[in-house]
Amino acid sequence: MTGSTRVPFTADDYRSRMDRAARAAADAGLDGLLVAPGPDLVWLTGYAPTAVTERLTLLVLAQGRAPVLVVPTLEAPDAAQAPGAPALNLRDWTDGKDPYAATAALLSGAGRFGISDNAWAMHLLGLQRSLPGTSYDSLTEVLPMLRAVKDAAELELMAAAGAAADQAFEEIRKVPFAGRRESEVGADLADLLRQFGHSQVDFTIVASGPNGANPHHEVGDRVIEFGDMVVLDFGGLRDGYGSDTSRTVHVGEPTEEERRVHDLVREAQEAGFRAVRPGAACQEVDRAARAVIAEAGYGEYFIHRTGHGIGVTTHEPPYMIEGERQPLMPGMCFSVEPGVYLPGRFGVRIEDIVTVTEDGGRRLNDTTREMVIVD
Ligand code: ZN
Ligand code: ZN
Ligand code: ZN
Repeated sequence: MTGSTRVPFTADDYRSRMDRAARAAADAGLDGLLVAPGPDLVWLTGYAPTAVTERLTLLVLAQGRAPVLVVPTLEAPDAAQAPGAPALNLRDWTDGKDPYAATAALLSGAGRFGISDNAWAMHLLGLQRSLPGTSYDSLTEVLPMLRAVKDAAELELMAAAGAAADQAFEEIRKVPFAGRRESEVGADLADLLRQFGHSQVDFTIVASGPNGANPHHEVGDRVIEFGDMVVLDFGGLRDGYGSDTSRTVHVGEPTEEERRVHDLVREAQEAGFRAVRPGAACQEVDRAARAVIAEAGYGEYFIHRTGHGIGVTTHEPPYMIEGERQPLMPGMCFSVEPGVYLPGRFGVRIEDIVTVTEDGGRRLNDTTREMVIVD
């Protein structure tokens, strides 16, 4: 996980994100938000501690009050360098002091707070001891759309991450597949993502032949053979924003059935993409893609949701799934990734990141969706 990250955001950008978050929390009936190191803190402040330790670091946001970052004294100099630091008050605490009591003093008594999903249990337990009578909700459950709508600068970074992943695909399709292990092709993919600017590679799935029928398969020691379908699914972070794309390639000439299933998934992906427009519910994207596969008689082999949100992480709300009525809004970014998985035989998945515009969807991945034949 090396590489530099370009941050085009100013303290004012972070200030407005923190304002919006505090307002959204109040609208949701919360007395404030408690944000631990992780994706929410990065998005709100630009601060990512180099190591997350047992020492408490916590952003306290409440409407009508200045944001405060509780931070260990020895990490305060780093925190002060964060791009959002000018929009924050730092409250440092030294070893031997009780950081939970210090945090409690910042909150106006007991109440109901949203806390980051990834906050350590020991910190939540410490807060519960210091603030009896206070209740806590998962931040993702109460404010699932906090980071979902991207602004113009974020969309540029999302587009650049998508283009870099596309470049990686254009290169990987040139390498020989037959006779090499999945893990070797996966390592090539990771190298390519870094070469095209990714600072973090989150996953490089290379699922050949029968392994392709298992959507959770990552890479293994299987040697790829002539005649295999190979599902490639890869992504990570570039300049702090995520990529995630899948293409399914075939080693040599495919059979008629392989071609038919690939075409079916391509049509389903296209149908999901065409369902994207402002105001449509997330579940409509899932339904549109699923209907194509179900009508062809393969419904039982499409065994996952159609998509997930993406931003400063590679998997986050909103989810394109039956039952999700959240309306799509311009600036949201998510995957459209239907698949068909034939147990013991092969799988096909095609995935693009799509963003919502006033007129419909815009793809952030645009390599060919026709089946690519590799060596
Ligand atoms: Zn084949
Ligand atoms: Zn993916
Ligand atoms: Zn995905």
